[in-house]
Amino acid sequence: MPYLDDPLIIFTDLDGSLLDHHDYSWKPAQPWLDKLAAANVPLILTTSKTSAEVAALQTALHLTHQPFIAENGAIIHLPPGWQTQEQQPVHVMGARYSDIRQALVDLRQRYDFEFRGFGDVTPKQVAVWTGLSEAQAELAMQREASEPLVWFGNDLDFAHLKKCLSREGLALTRGGRFWHVMGTDAGKGQAVQWLSQLYRQQRGVPVASIGLGDGPNDLSMLETVDYAVVIKGYHEHQMPVNDGNGSQVFRTTEFGPHGWSQGLNHFITLP
Ligand SMILES: [Mg+2]
Repeated sequence: MPYLDDPLIIFTDLDGSLLDHHDYSWKPAQPWLDKLAAANVPLILTTSKTSAEVAALQTALHLTHQPFIAENGAIIHLPPGWQTQEQQPVHVMGARYSDIRQALVDLRQRYDFEFRGFGDVTPKQVAVWTGLSEAQAELAMQREASEPLVWFGNDLDFAHLKKCLSREGLALTRGGRFWHVMGTDAGKGQAVQWLSQLYRQQRGVPVASIGLGDGPNDLSMLETVDYAVVIKGYHEHQMPVNDGNGSQVFRTTEFGPHGWSQGLNHFITLP
């Protein structure tokens, strides 16, 4: 297991992981955040939130010099220190938002599919769906590469929509309240792999990766990293981590940022 001064990269989910499920506090994780910062270990926020939603948090966490992964892996932001000549500040995995919207609108026109996406409604409606304030809803609506939608139709039509989208290179994945449409080749796992590879190239040495998450949308990330921390969540999902690639898995007994710290205590040896 790695020492804190070994080449390391850490990927973390936000809600229910680094942030408390109820009050969004990361206070219990602060001692570890300080240790990681002092040891220059990149901490990559890896979330379903949009870039606009992540920005304020990244500033509050003093992580603006680090990349982050938004929209469930569809978007990767690279700060200046991480950009190479080929790398732009924003890397899109899969399809762009305008293309996703176009495909959805075309399919709905053709087959009368019964759904509403964020692009169909007002911030007021998104606020009702999510419980966010209208100002927060506006940030959640600044999409770059994925579209959350609410399905009102029957199961048969849903299966049909899924099939039609897959022909367009798009996939439907289940989030908490919404279905998310994004490129088939986009996901937290793929984004983590892409960014780990970039970091290994830049460092020129093997780098160990740690991932922390509490929900089903974190599974692909947890299966991609060397050390996976499954944080105890407020849900009934089993969270089976397929550790076929030899990753080590630790399941916390505590929730949120307490569990987050428990996971790092388990895997990282202090020098
Ligand atoms: Mg979560």
